[in-house]
Amino acid sequence: MAEERRTLLIRLGELTLKSKRVRQRFTLRLLQNLKAALDAEGIRDYRVINEWSRLFVEVPEGQEKEAREVLRRVFGIASLSPVEVMYFRTIRDLENFAEQMYALLVDGRTFAVRVKRVGRHPFRSIDVERLVGGRLARYGTVDLENPEVLVEIEIREHQAFFFVERIAGPGGLPLGTEGKALALVSGGFDSAVAAWLMMKRGVALDFVLFNLGGPLHLKGTLDVVQTLCRRWCYGTDPVFHEVDFRAVVQDLHTRVKENYWNLILKRLMYRAAARLAREIGVPAVVTGESIGQVSSQTFVNLTVLEEAAEVPVFRPLLTYDKQEIIDLARRIGTYEVSAAVAEYCQLVARHPVTRANPQRVRELEERLNPELLARAVKERRSFPLRAAPAEVLGNVEVDTVPEGAVILDVRRRADPPIPGARRIPADRFREAVATLDPSVPYVLVCESGYRSFELARDLQQKGFRAYSLKGGARWLLKHMSSA
Ligand code: ATP
Ligand code: MG
Repeated sequence: MAEERRTLLIRLGELTLKSKRVRQRFTLRLLQNLKAALDAEGIRDYRVINEWSRLFVEVPEGQEKEAREVLRRVFGIASLSPVEVMYFRTIRDLENFAEQMYALLVDGRTFAVRVKRVGRHPFRSIDVERLVGGRLARYGTVDLENPEVLVEIEIREHQAFFFVERIAGPGGLPLGTEGKALALVSGGFDSAVAAWLMMKRGVALDFVLFNLGGPLHLKGTLDVVQTLCRRWCYGTDPVFHEVDFRAVVQDLHTRVKENYWNLILKRLMYRAAARLAREIGVPAVVTGESIGQVSSQTFVNLTVLEEAAEVPVFRPLLTYDKQEIIDLARRIGTYEVSAAVAEYCQLVARHPVTRANPQRVRELEERLNPELLARAVKERRSFPLRAAPAEVLGNVEVDTVPEGAVILDVRRRADPPIPGARRIPADRFREAVATLDPSVPYVLVCESGYRSFELARDLQQKGFRAYSLKGGARWLLKHMSSA
């Protein structure tokens, strides 16, 4: 027997306000992105119907829930509703259908009926509301102010759509309709949220990290940006650029006073980003700065930064409070990864200037070697974000435990044990290395996969076959219990 099919009605947001031409183009892009999303998430056998004013996506019943979750993450979609579709001849057909579909749902509850109508009919919307409401009142109680169930009916000529749910989409504009920018990312909460806000308005992104902390900084940032893109970048193929900034930082630290490090470092990032943007042909960069959040982002310092910007800098978080940023990070799914990164990778300088003098900044910059910056950009590593090759992280991470490997649990003694693992707490690791067998492969597990990453790298450098379990114990225990 053929599987039942379900229909999802998709409401398009702001793009319906565009001129016909623009709207056509935007809708086309939305369709592309939407299909890319459904394909990427393994929804099979779907059908998309474009009826200009709205879209319909038909899926096998067993995949309705998943399809909803995916469609909620396609920019340009204002909301969606699972609908019952019917063709009718008379108003009585609507009444009967409503009873059949919703008698059980409104039973013993309060409800209201709301009708929207397009086309020529021998009845008004309010006639349908009264008739259907009257029939359903045999089961539930009408409450127009604050109903528990809202039965909505959209009538178009001889077709009617019934629904009781409106699921919010992200809104915004289809990703890619507003061109492309380069987002500066560093693994914290802010840059991922800033990137999301730009994408919401249709701007596709490539990403750049100025690496200050070696492979761990890359890992943290990649984890966050990949998490972001797995959920939201449908229809685009972002490139990730890693620029090794360690030589630049070293130069800065030897030639300039500590209180100017943060600000000048940021200006150097702006310059390098502009250089890269020009090279890859994008017109602007995006950052996660917000007025007054930290010393390099005081209002005065932002103006001093802006002076170093050779391409336009967009700062979608400019007016956001930290709490608003955190809330949004939770909503878009990057909170947990960013929190794990923040917990582990802290880079701070003491007593930074909060009201930099631009003249002084320029003088200090004179002392730096400008070639280092050009060289760093030139020697960057660029790779597709989605298919980042394992060697960008030095082949240290694994996502399963290979046959014959010994699990080394490097968490604290108080943590509940992992079955079959040997416990060596990270702070005792150095002394324990002598007891390890170089002929055995080891998989190190810590809380979230950062400390184990560092320790496994050290072991590899000592000649061991050591790996780090991506995602750490949180990931492992979740998968053990579901196996
Ligand atoms: P995040 O945005 O990752 O939370 P943060 O708030 O710790 O970073 P700040 O030093 O406050 O970073 O910098 C603000 C913005 O500057 C970041 O949002 C990001 O866009 C950019 N930025 C900072 N450090 C880097 C870096 N190492 N590489 C690329 N961009 C960076
Ligand atoms: Mg910040």
